[in-house]
Amino acid sequence: MARRLLACLALCALAACSDAPRSPIRYVVLISLDTVRADALGCYDASATKSPSIDRLANLGVRFEHAITAAPTTLASHASIMTGRYPHAHGVPRNGFVLHPDNITLAEIFAQRGYATAAFLGSFALDKPFGLDQGFQLYDARFTTELGTAGVDQSQRSASEVTDSALRWFDETRPERAFVFLHYFDAHAPYAPKDSGLPPVTLDTLSRRALAHQQRWISSPPGWEAPLLSGLPRELIGRVDGTPLDAFDAQIEAQYAAEIAEIDTQLERVFRVFGTPERAADTLIVVTADHGESFHEHADFFNHGLWLHETTVHVPLILRAPGLAPRSVAQPVSSVDLAPTVLELAGIDSMVAFDGVSLVPLARGEARPRGPVFSEATQPTHPSFERGAWANALKPSCIVDGRWKLIRAPYLGLEQLFDLESDPHERVDLLARGDAGAPPNLSELRARLDAWEHTARPLPSNFSREQADEVARRLRELGYTEGLPPKER
Ligand SMILES: [Zn+2]
Repeated sequence: MARRLLACLALCALAACSDAPRSPIRYVVLISLDTVRADALGCYDASATKSPSIDRLANLGVRFEHAITAAPTTLASHASIMTGRYPHAHGVPRNGFVLHPDNITLAEIFAQRGYATAAFLGSFALDKPFGLDQGFQLYDARFTTELGTAGVDQSQRSASEVTDSALRWFDETRPERAFVFLHYFDAHAPYAPKDSGLPPVTLDTLSRRALAHQQRWISSPPGWEAPLLSGLPRELIGRVDGTPLDAFDAQIEAQYAAEIAEIDTQLERVFRVFGTPERAADTLIVVTADHGESFHEHADFFNHGLWLHETTVHVPLILRAPGLAPRSVAQPVSSVDLAPTVLELAGIDSMVAFDGVSLVPLARGEARPRGPVFSEATQPTHPSFERGAWANALKPSCIVDGRWKLIRAPYLGLEQLFDLESDPHERVDLLARGDAGAPPNLSELRARLDAWEHTARPLPSNFSREQADEVARRLRELGYTEGLPPKER
C-alpha cells in the first residue's frame, strides 16, 4: 500500500508540474535491438559486419563503450530500461510475468508531460498482457510475419513491418512532441535472413548444436533445454575454452549478422525521418539492446539468460541529442541509467526514484565515477530455483566495477572473477587459478554484490494468468522454454 501511495504521489507530482520541459527536445526515439551484442556492430568492433546506419549515428553521438544490461532476458531487461530499476525492484524476474502497475515507466512520465507516446513492438515477449504498455497511448503489437512455406508466425514481425508502422503513425499524426519506442526482434533466434543465400538456422538446429558442443567437453551432456530449467552442470563451466567446434559455428554467426544487417537497413529509414539536420536540433535518438547472445564461447551455448558473460550482458548504448558532442565513454554503465538520462536530456525533473543515475555528465565529458553496475540471470526457471522473496536470488548475479567483474552463481556455489581489461573475452577465471591473480579489492567486490542483493524489494509479479497456456505456447515458439508457468510444470 505504501508503494502504491508513493507511486501515486510521484505521478501526481508530475501532473502538478506539467509545465513545458526546459529542453529543445521534442522527440525521443528509443530503439531497442533485441538480442544484439555490442560487438556485433561495426561501431563497437571493427571486425564485426558493418552496420553503416548505426555506425554513422554512433559517429555523431555519444557511444558508451561498456553498457551492461540489468538482466539478459527480454521482458525483465525492457522493464529495467523503462523504469530505471533493477529487476529485483520492478519485480519482473523473466519472460511471461506482468510488470506491476505501481512501477512508473518512461512512457507514463512522458505522457504526463504532454508527449504523444507510441510503441511499435517486434515480439510477443513484450505484448500488452505483460504490462510494459503502461503509459503508451498507442501500443502497436500486431505480430504476423510471413515465413514462406512455413506459414505465418503470430508471435513476431519483421524490422520492415515495425518501421512501416512507426513511420506511418508519425506521418499521419505529426505530434508536437513524442516518445517513440521501436523494438526490433529480428536478431533473436531463429535466424532466417532474407538474402543470405543460406538455409535458416532454426531453434532445432541450435538445440542440436548446443548438445554437440557440450559433448565435446563432458561425458553426460544435458542438452540445450534442460539447463534452462535445471541449471548448467558445474563441470561444464570450467572447461569450455571458447574455440569453435567447426565451420558451422561461423555460419550461424553469419546468419545472425545478416539479421542485424536487415535491421540496420530499416534503421536508415528511421534516421532519414528523425536524424535529419533539422530534427537533430530537437530529437534525442537512443539505440540500445536488451541483451546479447552466447554462441560457442561459453558453457551457456546459444542462450541468453543462464549466465552473465559479456556475450549476453554487454549491449550497445548510443545517444544522439542536441548539445551532446560526439565522444566515447569508457566507464561501465547500466541499462537502468537510461531512464534518468533520457529524462534529464528532455529537461524533465520526474521526482521518481531510480536505481540508475543520469549519464548526462559522462556524456558531456565530465570526469565523474559512475560506480559499480550489476546484472542478474533469469534462468534456471524450475520452481526449486524460484522460492523465497526474490525469484532470481539463487541464479547468477554479477558486479562490474571498472575492469573487474565478479560473477556469483549461488545454485552452484560458484564464483568467477575476470579482469575485463586484460581478458575481455573472459577466458581466465582468476578465482579458479587461486586468489593470487585476484585484485586487492576482491572482498570489496563481494561486499558490494552482497549489499546490492540485499536491496531486493520486488514489487509483486506473477506469470501472466491471462491465457497462461497460450502465453507459454507463444513464448515457446519464440524459443523461450522459460515461458512455462511455474505452477503447471
Ligand atoms: Zn530479448
